Amino acid sequence: MSKQTHSFQAEVAQLLHLVTHSLYSNPEIFLRELISNASDACDKLRFEALANPSLYGDQPELEVRITFDKAAKTLTVTDTGIGMSEQEAIDHLGTIAKSGTKDFFSKLSGDQKQDAQLIGQFGVGFYSGFIVADRITVESRRAGLPANAGVRWVSKGAGDFEVEQITREQRGTSVILHLRDDALEFADGWKLKELIGKYSDHIAIPIKMEGEKWEEGKEEGQPGAMVKTGEWETINQATALWTRAKKDVTDEQYTGFYEQLAHDWQPPLAWTHNRVEGSTEYTQLLYIPSHAPFDLWDRDRKAGIKLYVKRVFIMDDAEQLVPRYLRFIKGVVDSADLPLNVSRELLQESRDVRAIREGNTRRVLGLLEDLAKAETAAGADAAEAAAVEDKVDIGTGDATPAPEPTELPEGGVTDVVDKNEAPTAADAAAKFAEDAAKAPAKYATFWREFGAVLKEGLGEDHANRERIAKLLRYASTTSDTPTVSLADYKARMKDGQKAIYFITADTLAAAKNSPQLEVFKKKGIEVLLMTDRVDEWSLSYLRDFDGTPLQSVAKGAVDLGDLQDEAEKKAAQEAATHVKPLLDKLKETLKDQVEDVRVTTRLVDSPACLVVKDAGMSMQLARMLKQAGQ
Ligand code: ADP
Ligand code: MG
Repeated sequence: MSKQTHSFQAEVAQLLHLVTHSLYSNPEIFLRELISNASDACDKLRFEALANPSLYGDQPELEVRITFDKAAKTLTVTDTGIGMSEQEAIDHLGTIAKSGTKDFFSKLSGDQKQDAQLIGQFGVGFYSGFIVADRITVESRRAGLPANAGVRWVSKGAGDFEVEQITREQRGTSVILHLRDDALEFADGWKLKELIGKYSDHIAIPIKMEGEKWEEGKEEGQPGAMVKTGEWETINQATALWTRAKKDVTDEQYTGFYEQLAHDWQPPLAWTHNRVEGSTEYTQLLYIPSHAPFDLWDRDRKAGIKLYVKRVFIMDDAEQLVPRYLRFIKGVVDSADLPLNVSRELLQESRDVRAIREGNTRRVLGLLEDLAKAETAAGADAAEAAAVEDKVDIGTGDATPAPEPTELPEGGVTDVVDKNEAPTAADAAAKFAEDAAKAPAKYATFWREFGAVLKEGLGEDHANRERIAKLLRYASTTSDTPTVSLADYKARMKDGQKAIYFITADTLAAAKNSPQLEVFKKKGIEVLLMTDRVDEWSLSYLRDFDGTPLQSVAKGAVDLGDLQDEAEKKAAQEAATHVKPLLDKLKETLKDQVEDVRVTTRLVDSPACLVVKDAGMSMQLARMLKQAGQ
């Protein structure tokens, strides 16, 4: 068959342009993207071969080989994975199938640095090859197809690409980069080894390179040169990172793994890595990113957890493994119990999956509690921090707590004491002090990026509501930044104060200047200022905190109880009788607009304000529903 020319989908052309124009300052990422694709392809083959072992043919090895040719200026990444048919090459290398693609393009600003960040999150993938290559040739053959059903795909990364049918002896894919003259540094064994170590060490399959040795010139005066030995060396550790013992994985490796998993070049805020044993056995490695993705609020946004079963990759975006309100979490779950042929439908019904989800939820909440504690401990002395640790309730509120991780008898894969569960108070104190010194603002960062999402948990996760409540932070009349916890608030309550007061508004300024706050300001009572869209809804699920009710200052007759002195109460009563004729008149005039008109003690300077009934929908919520067209 002859060559055919195809045009790239418009988005691909756009992405290609962006990639080559925004990412040239960080060219080396192409290698991790290509190795990641090779590894994905091997994962896919292993998965398909579960049902159809003949796909392996006479090549049982799953591996990646990296070769280069300085003279020809090429660098080739070859895998023995699933490969591509001709149609697949056209589809997968000519279009973008990712969800959120449109959203992504709409977010681009034209600012190179900012866009580079965004592209990183979106995942440049295969096209990153064009940062270093002016032409890419892909040769591939899908597992199970005959040798003459191979495909060659060639493109210069401009508007189009060519495909033709070829004969290829081996299944799998070779990506051949024709390096630009300014990227010849990548046709070098040392350089490539360094990059593999940096970005791809955790890849679970072997990444091999041919050995090289120095050979002196054969004759007098002839220069020596590096020559290939014909022996293939494995460059990476080739065991999946999450299966290794925690002590054998460095922070850099955890971070590197995260970057690849999450397509995020900013290091994660924190992670938790555990092997859980008991009735449901699994390994979890969960990360909290340090910034929100561009599509956090996208309804179709994929979950960030990859599911493996006994090291075999099963699926991306396993949305059953964390609740929606933790959808920002990235990570890997490797289950020992689920069947290898598990489908998304099966996942929904599985008891094991429910146990894993609950276990993941507990871990993430625990991690957040630790970050929050470290923040509280910042500046405080270590002993105090330890005391905090002792007091903090880590109960889950569940009837049947999942088994906590325990030490494996021997040859254990992961050391299972959660690095966040310090065994003694002294250790805890030291750790908190250390964490606090390292990154005192981690929890604040988390809260800024994901706080609004976590709040959804109040409504979604009944069992963990109290734990979530402790993690909430708000601005208040004493703090413009959202750093006030409900516990802080309670500790500062006035004698006789019976409720935690809050107000919701669209902006901080609107909240602060609301007439409904006047009496609170006058009496020096702190009021929480809430400006997230989810506040109103989420707080409807949190009636009280630690026995103290939460009360909107915009609702009903605010009863300041003992905080109101007798004289004030009397004055209000007198006024009510006194102005009754006026009230009646107002009620009559406004009867279509309001339910009641009454005298209040809540105002100091303003003559009047609107409030809603105690049981009524708040104004903020009403505005929200109206905006949503209801
Ligand atoms: P992603 O990996 O996020 O899907 P990429 O741009 O990296 O995006 O790759 C696009 C698609 O091209 C992949 O989803 C896959 O279908 C196909 N592909 C890329 N490299 C390979 C490979 N080495 N073997 C098989 N398919 C590949
Ligand atoms: Mg990829």
